[in-house]
Amino acid sequence: MEILLSNDDGVHAPGLAAHARALSELGNVHVVAPDGDRSAFSHALTLEKPLCPTVLDNGFIALNGTPADCVHVALNGLLGFTPDLVVSGINAGANLGDDVIYSGTVAAAMEGRFLDSLSLAVSAVNAQRSVQYDYDVAAGITLSIVKKLPDLAISRRTVLNINIPDLPLKQIKGVKITRLGHRGPAQDVIEIKDPKGRTHYWIGSAGEEEDAGPGTDFHAIRNGYVSLTPLHADMSSYDTFDAVSKWLDEISI
Ligand code: MN
Repeated sequence: MEILLSNDDGVHAPGLAAHARALSELGNVHVVAPDGDRSAFSHALTLEKPLCPTVLDNGFIALNGTPADCVHVALNGLLGFTPDLVVSGINAGANLGDDVIYSGTVAAAMEGRFLDSLSLAVSAVNAQRSVQYDYDVAAGITLSIVKKLPDLAISRRTVLNINIPDLPLKQIKGVKITRLGHRGPAQDVIEIKDPKGRTHYWIGSAGEEEDAGPGTDFHAIRNGYVSLTPLHADMSSYDTFDAVSKWLDEISI
């Protein structure tokens, strides 16, 4: 099995190394990841400059681009073959609810949507951000999920967005399939002055959980479960087709 790994925290991130160690049990692991932290880069592609890969001593390839760049370049030339699977992460922090809109972790996985297999985006969630993550627990859970993938018959263009509570394995209660919850509005930007008196704005934290009841990814994590949300590249809002169609009929152009 040929597995492509990437992330948005950068090629030196410990979560990426943990995935590489765990998933090498299943075959050949190939790592192409940004040369620095590109968290919240979403699905940006770099079009205005060439991207130059650097092979590190451990064999990981660093690219001076975004998470989506890394998987795009890997699949469309750099690797020289088509891997069986794309796995992104382990991200240092949650990708729950609205986070997936901004997430480079999810985007890297979504960039693998043309493969026959679905792709995985994996994030570790710790309520106390100052605590050191134990990525080996999360990587072991990713390994268990990947081993079972051949039994899952669903279409490609699907990403499994997996969030894993940063808890000892014995305290994790299981895996729940969830829908994305929603956050409330983000916190205010932080206004600061530079030495020349100019005003700058620093983007603040994400909003608090708002739609986070039973069935959501937030709820699963809060209760000690691994959250697994299937995501699709098709963002069409099918629920609104009827309403918008009736409204269109009333517009004369
Ligand atoms: Mn990140």
